[in-house]
Amino acid sequence: MSLKRFNILLVLISLIGMLALFAYFDKILQQNISASIENSILRAASDLRERERSDFDTLVERFAQYEKMSVAKLKKVAKAASQEDGEINLSAIAREINANVYDGHYEISIINDRKVVEKSTYKGKIGLDFKAYPYYSHILDRLTDEDGVYKISAPVFDAYTLDIAQSYTLKSPKGYWIKVEHVLPFDEYVGYRKEQLKERFPSLVRLDLFILTANNIQYINTDEQKNKTVNNQIDKNSFYASMLIKDLGLTTPQDSTAVETIALRFLQNDMTSVVDTNNEEIVYALTTSSFEKTADDFMVIGKMHFDESYYMEDYSELKNLLYLFVAFVFIFTLLTFILIYRSVIMKISMITQQMHREEPIQVDGYLFSEFRFFVKRYNLIFSNWQDEVRRLHDITTQDELTKCANRRYFNQKIASQIDLFERYGQEFSMIMFDIDDFKHINDTYGHSLGDHVLKLMAIDVQEHLRTSDILCRIGGEEFAVILPETNRESALFVAEKIRKHIEEQVYIDHETITISLGAESFSEGQDFNSFYAAVDSFLYKSKNSGKNCVHSSESVSS
Ligand code: GH3
Ligand code: MG
Ligand code: MG
Repeated sequence: MSLKRFNILLVLISLIGMLALFAYFDKILQQNISASIENSILRAASDLRERERSDFDTLVERFAQYEKMSVAKLKKVAKAASQEDGEINLSAIAREINANVYDGHYEISIINDRKVVEKSTYKGKIGLDFKAYPYYSHILDRLTDEDGVYKISAPVFDAYTLDIAQSYTLKSPKGYWIKVEHVLPFDEYVGYRKEQLKERFPSLVRLDLFILTANNIQYINTDEQKNKTVNNQIDKNSFYASMLIKDLGLTTPQDSTAVETIALRFLQNDMTSVVDTNNEEIVYALTTSSFEKTADDFMVIGKMHFDESYYMEDYSELKNLLYLFVAFVFIFTLLTFILIYRSVIMKISMITQQMHREEPIQVDGYLFSEFRFFVKRYNLIFSNWQDEVRRLHDITTQDELTKCANRRYFNQKIASQIDLFERYGQEFSMIMFDIDDFKHINDTYGHSLGDHVLKLMAIDVQEHLRTSDILCRIGGEEFAVILPETNRESALFVAEKIRKHIEEQVYIDHETITISLGAESFSEGQDFNSFYAAVDSFLYKSKNSGKNCVHSSESVSS
């Protein structure tokens, strides 16, 4: 695998790795965020619940305190009523019994056969039918009289007035019923002031309160109920009962009512996070239960809606920071890869390409010092090596004396020319020549002058050849010329030209040195030996024909 591919692979692997890491981080973060939000919401809910609980506890304690007081007040009213002649002035009596009452107030009602006929706080005509108050004297008449006081109601939430009231009733000596009711304005205790709560619990979207009394659920929304008349309260209450049952995932057993089932559920577990939809977390919590208090039983349950996105803001900052960090790491890695690619990998690939082409290395742009050292060293070694190769090539292929090709090279070249002929039909020819009477030159002028003549003659012959022609020394004073892409006629022409030129040269004063030549083109069916023998035979023909001439297969020239 090439370094380039390896680098790309590495980039891909780190990209995939980083994406996987990113996804993993994201998942872990999401999980932690969800858990933290859940936690925060439950903490807020618990806080809120404790706050509401203390409000309601106060409320319950107040009822316990006022219970005793109410009986005393009732007796006082009864006494006043029995002393009155004609109509009783309820407002005056109410004013009197309400003195020194700080939490809420007392109300007095007079109830005759089927209706409340008079109420201390009522400003209109006496005798109006208060349909909403189902206190009928015929029910009251059935109550046994022990000490003349009947408590007829558990604390009752009045959806019309947003009050919680507990009432005590007594039959007056004049025959009608007198009811004294201690009324606490509910919203004062509930703390159901959204702005205040919002400030303390910014994530609180909505708070719904439900009062569970012995057999009833009442939904308390002070905002709504202050402005509107409640229609069909019974239906609404059963709607809320089934909503609570459904939200809490409860089933009502046959021998219980919905209220009992819900009450039992909250006694077992007083806080539950139940639904999680639309970025809203809903927590149900038992705000208070008076079961253990002295006042009558009722239970207040809060349904709290929290905005999850409120908590997200804190975390999204952390998340963005993480994303930024991952992005930074990724960009940094990518830049590092690019830098490594450009300054190392590209250079190495450039160097290896040039090494493949067997060229000295030349690299543009900035190079690290190690590379610079390598390139310098390599180029030096390369140039030395090339010199050495050239030298060895010369030694193995060049004739030492004449500097033309030697016999070994001649053999190789002829073999490759035969190969080209057989493969592509590329013709070639060969000239062979031998110096005439060279023995005589040696004998007369000495061997070194003979050598000198050989050297000069090689240069002269070379001058009359094309660059593609190869002059080889194949023996002592025997030479061959390989002529690629040359036919017999042209070879003959060249041979003659050489012969003539040598004849005209003066290598030694007063001596004419001549050569005898044979020339032939390679033909179909021949091999190295037969071709060599053929050209050699033409050379000897020339020797035998008086020397200083050229012989070929068809023509002779001199
Ligand atoms: P011919 O015309 O028949 O060729 O007569 P010749 O004297 O040239 O005879 P031949 O070719 O048989 O003799 C070769 C001579 O060439 C023998 C030797 O003295 C001489 N010779 C061969 N190699 C060298 C060499 O390297 N240097 C010198 N100076 N002379 C050489
Ligand atoms: Mg000779
Ligand atoms: Mg010879």
